[in-house]
Amino acid sequence: MDGEPDLYIGGVWRHASDGGTRDIVNPARGKVAAVVDEATPEDARAAVAAARTAFDDGRWPGTPVTERAALLDRVADLLQRDKEELAALETVDTGKTLAESRIDIDDVTSVFRYYAKLIGAESDRVVDVGDPAVVSRVVREPIGVCVLIAPWNYPLLQMSWKVAPALAAGATMVAKPSEVTPLTTIAFVRLLVEAGVPPGVVNLVQGSGATLGAALTDNPAVDFISFTGGLATGRVIARTAAEHVTKVALELGGKNPHIVFADVTAGGDWDAAVDHVLTGVFLHSGQVCSAGTRLIVEESVADDFVAALVARAGKIRMGDGLDPASETGPLVSEQHRAKVESFVQLGISEGAQLVCGGRRPDEPALADGYFFLPTIFDRCERSMRIVQEETFGPILTVERFTTEDEAIALGNDTEYGLAAGVRTSDPARGERVVRALRHGTVWLNDFGYYTAAAEWGGFGRSGNGRELGPTGLAEYQELKHIWHNTAPTAAGWFKG
Ligand code: NAP
Repeated sequence: MDGEPDLYIGGVWRHASDGGTRDIVNPARGKVAAVVDEATPEDARAAVAAARTAFDDGRWPGTPVTERAALLDRVADLLQRDKEELAALETVDTGKTLAESRIDIDDVTSVFRYYAKLIGAESDRVVDVGDPAVVSRVVREPIGVCVLIAPWNYPLLQMSWKVAPALAAGATMVAKPSEVTPLTTIAFVRLLVEAGVPPGVVNLVQGSGATLGAALTDNPAVDFISFTGGLATGRVIARTAAEHVTKVALELGGKNPHIVFADVTAGGDWDAAVDHVLTGVFLHSGQVCSAGTRLIVEESVADDFVAALVARAGKIRMGDGLDPASETGPLVSEQHRAKVESFVQLGISEGAQLVCGGRRPDEPALADGYFFLPTIFDRCERSMRIVQEETFGPILTVERFTTEDEAIALGNDTEYGLAAGVRTSDPARGERVVRALRHGTVWLNDFGYYTAAAEWGGFGRSGNGRELGPTGLAEYQELKHIWHNTAPTAAGWFKG
């Protein structure tokens, strides 16, 4: 960053082998915020080779679990020490507000604390094979060399969901952040080094996925690829990995329903429901994999509910995330805003009724950034592309239902299955609907929360595998069954 080498390979900070760099743009201002080294495929292969050596010579898998856990705790301490600096960097890189970035750093910290504790508490599973002479146990071993690929919307958070369990398990790794948002990952790897991660255990290459992809994923030295990003890229990676039978975990997109029943008119539920639907879709300008982008609302209250949303959406304060008055920031790049704008045109052409936003803001102060107004399309049909495809922008579509079965059918009518929300004041109905929805996370009378201790991942084309929780650690482990006969005798099968 700014002249310092940014690639970390085999314990050495390096510039790119061809001297290439990339401008990193602050999306709130449309100006270059930093210049970073841009890795070549040769650098990526060198990073995988370094991780392979560090795994095979046992320097990390052979490190006692207590030491690995202590290192994770040290990383958590350093994250908190540098919290403000890291949060500001994340805001400059992604455009999200400082308040959101601070929450991200706290969440990253909690993931390190969680896996430090979990790995320390793991034990082998003893199996009774019915022979007192045989000691049989199932042990967990690190999976090997991991390639960790993260997206731009939660750069540090998504990367930490991979790095923390991988380190805890004793794996070695190559981290590749998005080319658009590498800044906090570079700073984070510096913290890992400061915390004492041995050379070669964590390697970092940033650069274009299209350029580095094959070197990282079409590589027999890799044992596991953990990818978070879009469906199209996930498909490419899965196909490539299949050639080497490399294990792959995919955390992909979502088109997440938020179902609101008419009974939310009771008590304070109405205001909470409006607030959560609004936050669920417009936080971080909709650039959230689990954003509640499909409002599915009971017909009898739909007009009033949409009117309440429109009134509040119009008041959302957009601005530079570093300004404490900003409630949401810009889209991540000019290119991404163009994609969101094309979805708005698509919605209009499909006959959805634009009731809010649909354009860039008027304020001259926002003209240089990639801002886009919170947008709501009413009177949508489930067959519309604007309802089915992930726009990854501040666009809410509204569909209406009259029966509980219809609400469930609409909520499940998606190729994705990442997350869903249900709002009702009837607990029995809430439980019925939550169980009927085919999504990896379902919030009942809440939206957007998660915790390090509970698994995260998708049904359907939202991916496979899970991050966080005990399963998020197990992804980085192989199971080995050890059968130990303490009093061996002849098998006696062949008589001659
Ligand atoms: P993306 O375009 O698929 O990119 C994700 C990562 O893959 C980036 O680091 C990208 O590098 C890299 N990449 C691109 N082509 C590659 C290839 N051929 N081989 C290997 N790596 C390659 O996704 P994005 O636009 O960054 O992120 C948005 C998507 O992520 C959305 O669909 C969102 O829903 C999803 N997401 C899912 C979760 C979840 O938990 N399920 C969480 C966050 C985001 P470059 O950036 O350099 O192209």
